[in-house]
Amino acid sequence: MSKMPQCLACGNTAHFVSSNVPALFPWNSTGSGLAGSFDANGNISNLENTATGGDIMLSAWERPFVHFDRCGRCGSARIQWP
Ligand SMILES: [Zn+2]
Repeated sequence: MSKMPQCLACGNTAHFVSSNVPALFPWNSTGSGLAGSFDANGNISNLENTATGGDIMLSAWERPFVHFDRCGRCGSARIQWP
């Protein structure tokens, strides 16, 4: 049983972004100001943000399923959390 979030559209399990945090400038293809990378255990290995404060960063770290609702690869919203 996987513990990782997974995009049901493309199978991506490593890169997700938040649609609730618009990017201040087009720094990546997803248009999100908050992006997270996940390791094989479903833990965040890296957080990138351009538009959020420390509170959002901390919240995203503790409850990523609340924030990351878009696939970082294909942009689909069909994300399945374990
Ligand atoms: Zn995808």
